[in-house]
Amino acid sequence: MKKYTFYTIIYTKKGEAARLLCRTDCRTIAMFTLFDSQLKEVLRNTKSIAIVGAKDKEGQPVDRVGRYMLSRGFTVYPIHPVRKNVWGLETFKSIPELAEYLKIHSPQESSPDIICLFRASEYCYEHAIETKESGMKPKIFWLQEGIKNEDAAKCVQELGIRYVEDLCVKIEYERFFPKNFECDLCGVCCEGKNGIVVDNHTDLPRLLNYFHCTEEELDAQYTHIHNNKRVINSGNDGNCLFYDKEKACTIHTARPDICRAWPYFRGNIIDNLSYDMAKSDCKGLRHGKDLTHEDFKKEAAHYLLSEKLTKNKSDSSSANALKYSDDEINLMKEWK
Ligand code: SF4
Ligand code: SF4
Repeated sequence: MKKYTFYTIIYTKKGEAARLLCRTDCRTIAMFTLFDSQLKEVLRNTKSIAIVGAKDKEGQPVDRVGRYMLSRGFTVYPIHPVRKNVWGLETFKSIPELAEYLKIHSPQESSPDIICLFRASEYCYEHAIETKESGMKPKIFWLQEGIKNEDAAKCVQELGIRYVEDLCVKIEYERFFPKNFECDLCGVCCEGKNGIVVDNHTDLPRLLNYFHCTEEELDAQYTHIHNNKRVINSGNDGNCLFYDKEKACTIHTARPDICRAWPYFRGNIIDNLSYDMAKSDCKGLRHGKDLTHEDFKKEAAHYLLSEKLTKNKSDSSSANALKYSDDEINLMKEWK
């Protein structure tokens, strides 16, 4: 049967780019378009990504993409059949193994938002079948730059999953959501003692689940009480126990809210001077050289509210840097 494949970028009247993929054979004409606005909307609501073919080999595109997605706050699930640990995260051998893990440990999120493939084109159909058979339904089945597979496209589209091929997820994400703040993993914010508070309502269950341990075991190994709050122990180097110079945060997916929220601390939001000081300490903030304090406040409000990282003033187990009054929360909603 004769087949033709066209792949092109078209532009709408508004100048919006859309990727148009047409397949024609004797019986059917299959076509999908993914307009920039649609892709942007989907990406705006994505929080997790499984990276198939994950490797933390410096200089490789997959390493850059993995680290970037982590720095943008994504939950990253590295998948590799042999490697045990990538970017300080435990790996999954395959898509079905990840599916099993999510069923048990994260029933509310039975699938990552994106399954992103760093595999040769000929293996992608196999991964589409794995996705189908494991019952996963990501928002996007994404083939990185230079990777295409028509059968994989057909397979996932029949499941109602969006298909993207031959594009870099990092480039696309950055294009839609350019960063003013980008963590350089320098570790400065992981230095010092007693600064990393474990919130009893959010962080504690996350850490217990991550370490598969009891509260008593967590306290015996990793945390202690300081000023009536549970805080993470320091290592011999004086940094947070979980900081590793090579790998940065070794518990990235389970890190406490205070770490997720930096640099958007209350002090930096309400006080211009604190913001300037944060800029001089944190290399990541210097990416937004021209970011005014007003812009920073808006960005902070958007991030903290969408990630649900603000705490109530009355919560004694929470970090002060994340506590806001009801009036302040309402103000942030307006900025956002
Ligand atoms: S100080 Fe800034 S750049 Fe360095 S690890 Fe912390 S957030 Fe990242
Ligand atoms: S938990 Fe991770 S991010 Fe937070 S201070 Fe420790 S090493 Fe840094």
